Order: sequence, then C-alpha cells, then structure tokens
Amino acid sequence: MYSQTTKHNTLISCPDCDLLLSGRVAPVSHTLLCPRCGKTIGKRTANSVLKTLVLSLTGLLMFFPAIILPLMTFESFGFSDSANILESIVNLFLNDYFMVAIMVAISAVLFPFALLTAIFIVSLQLHKKRYPPYLTTLFRLYIHLEEWAMIEVYLLGIMITIIKMVDTTEIIYHSGIFCFSALVVVTLAISTVIDKRFFWQTIEHKDQTHSANKPGSPAENNNTTAAEAGLILCHTCHKLSPISLEDKGCPRCGGKLHIRKANTLSRTWALVITSMIFLLPANLLPIMEVDFLGIPERSTILDGIIYFFQHDSYLIGLIIFTASILVPVFKVTGLIILLLTSRPSAPRFLREKTQMYRFIAFIGRWSMLDIFVIALLTVLVDFGFLTSIHAAPAATYFCIVVAATMLAAITFDPRVMWDKCGSKSKQHHKISSFQKE
Ligand SMILES: [Zn+2]
Ligand SMILES: [Zn+2]
Repeated sequence: MYSQTTKHNTLISCPDCDLLLSGRVAPVSHTLLCPRCGKTIGKRTANSVLKTLVLSLTGLLMFFPAIILPLMTFESFGFSDSANILESIVNLFLNDYFMVAIMVAISAVLFPFALLTAIFIVSLQLHKKRYPPYLTTLFRLYIHLEEWAMIEVYLLGIMITIIKMVDTTEIIYHSGIFCFSALVVVTLAISTVIDKRFFWQTIEHKDQTHSANKPGSPAENNNTTAAEAGLILCHTCHKLSPISLEDKGCPRCGGKLHIRKANTLSRTWALVITSMIFLLPANLLPIMEVDFLGIPERSTILDGIIYFFQHDSYLIGLIIFTASILVPVFKVTGLIILLLTSRPSAPRFLREKTQMYRFIAFIGRWSMLDIFVIALLTVLVDFGFLTSIHAAPAATYFCIVVAATMLAAITFDPRVMWDKCGSKSKQHHKISSFQKE
C-alpha cells in the first residue's frame, strides 16, 4: 500500500546547489532545508491531497464570479463607470495594446484558471486512488504555469487603484471585489498546503526503488553532488535518474533531462540584455495618458511616483517605486552579478548568491503591479469628454521587461555557480562537458 512514509531511503538532490541528500521524509508540518545553500527542498503537509482538493474546488466555484462580476464603480461629476477583470483586459485589446493585454490575460485569468483546473483534477484522481497517465501532464502544467499566475499582484493593483482615486471620485464596491479577494486567499492557501514531492510520488504510483537509490550511496558523504554521483535531477518533478538518461525523458514526468539547464549562461545573458534594452523605453516613454477636457497629459512611471509623493501618499509612492523601478533594476543587476561570477574562482559568497537568486526569482512577478493598475484605470475612468485614462507605449516595453527578467531567472541554473567554484578540478571538466550538450 502506498503511503507518505515509504520513502525513507530515497536520495534527493538540491535543485539550487546539486548537493546529494538522503531523502528523509520530514515530519508533518516541517520543511526540509538544504544544509549547503538553505533551499527549501520540500515540506510535509498532513492530508495534502484532500486539502488541495477542497481548496481547488472552492477556487473553481469562485473563479467566474471573481472574473465576471463588477469589482467597483467610480462616480465623478454625474458620470459613473464600473469594471470587472475581463473588461480591463478587453479594453487593452481594443486600444491595440496586444502585448499588455496578453500579459494581463495570462497572469490574471488564463493561467490561474488553468492552474485551478489542473490541480483540481489531479487531487481528485489521487484522492480516489486513480492514476490515469494524463495526471503527469496536468501536474507538469501546474508546476510550469504556477509562476505566471499573479492574481495576488492584481489584488494589490486593485488596492492601489482605490487609494489613488479615493480622494477624487466616489467609489462603490461590488461583489466581484470580494469574490476576487477570496479567490486570492484560496490560491495562496493551495500553494501552502500542496506537498509537491508527495504528489509526484503518488502520481508515479510505485515504490521508489529506482536505480538512483543504491544502498550505501554517497548521500552521507559531505558535499557530494548528484552530478558527481552519476545522477541527474529532473527540473520539473525533482526525481533523480542515472546520468545515462541525459537528453532523454524523465521516467516519472517525461520532461527532458539535462545535467544542467541547457545553455544556461548564454540564454540568461540574452534575456538580461533584452531586459536592459527595453528598460530604457519602459522608463523614459509615457506609460499612461490622462485626457482631461480633451487635453491629453502623458506621464512616465517616475511621474506617477512623484505624483503620489506630492500628494502625501508616501506608502503608495514607495510601493510603486519598489515594484516598477527598484525590482526590475535589482533583478537585472543581480543576474549580471551572478552571471559574471559564475566562472571558476574562489568559492566566495556562494550561499549568499544562491539566496539572492531565489529572491530575484521570487520578486519578479510583483513588477506587474503598475500594469494592473493601468489596466483597471483605463476601464474605471472613462467619463467621456470630461476625463479618461489610457495606456501609453511604455506599457508594452514594461511588459517585455517583466517577461524577459522572469524568463532570465527561470533559465539561470544556480548549480553552475557551485560547479564552477568547486575545489575539485575534475568536477569542472565534468560539468563543462555537460554544458556543451
Ligand atoms: Zn542546496
Ligand atoms: Zn521528472
């Protein structure tokens, strides 16, 4: 019989530094941390499948009301305008901001819905102890799309919009805003109760006596990496397989196996350079246009921040400054530091650099904040001749920066830093030859 306690002897390796660890099952409510780089390897949640099932069902029931019901109405000088999430996307399409509309649609509607559907089906089947082959595809979809669903950022965008407009318009709140807030809470709850390692092991539905799990294998040997032990970690499901399977499909999830992410340094450089190029128009060109009595006034990201500071909204000004300027610049600078120092040298600050990488990967999504605020304002403030708000060209460039920096964090493989800074020269040869693949 399959249970959460049958995996005591399975080897695992750290996705961030490749350290080989004995795959001890952590006690319930505990997280397993990598002793070398501090990465959270996995956390145990009691009844993870059932909790995920209940939460994803709740999320699905709430999804369409949250997206379709009006969020709020703005009233000013006898004009009124209401908006829901879908309208904020359609409006961007109608105004030819396709790239921005696609980014907002993906991050606020399409991927959150796909995630909820996928995890509902997976947890339902696992709960019923049924293991159809498509579960692998669905759970892979969940793992890959998770990062691109950003409804919590959209909720912060709604709050910023309210604070921005509360002094100049009367705001009437509708049921949509409560459904959407509840949807965000449910989605965040799913990410805390889901035990991905257990899900994968259950989907695989067989005892973990695969070839990676040799008795007396080097898990207890300090600082042995998976690569040195002839093992390869799957990026998607974190299963260890023999190195002979490189460039072939993972036996568990079918994802292609690479000893390190393919061409990690060159791909990340390309994306970082793209981000740097588009950061200029994103910050120098206007991102929003306000038409007041037929006179258009365009403002850049910085103008918007200065506006908040001039009107004593320091907290909002600081949040927008952090999300729109500080985060993209920090991401680009941080990734350049990681790329430049990922070469054979003294192993300095490896743990700190890996922590910085994880922080860069975590904060990327919050840059979409200003875009969500603009998407909402364009629908909520459309009072005919009196005043209306529109997106301006920098919005497109800004979306490209967000997408490119997020992709750069995904393509960068932090294990390369550990490989290249390792003291054993044989390791350098081993890894550099894998890099060429
Ligand atoms: Zn580690
Ligand atoms: Zn896999």
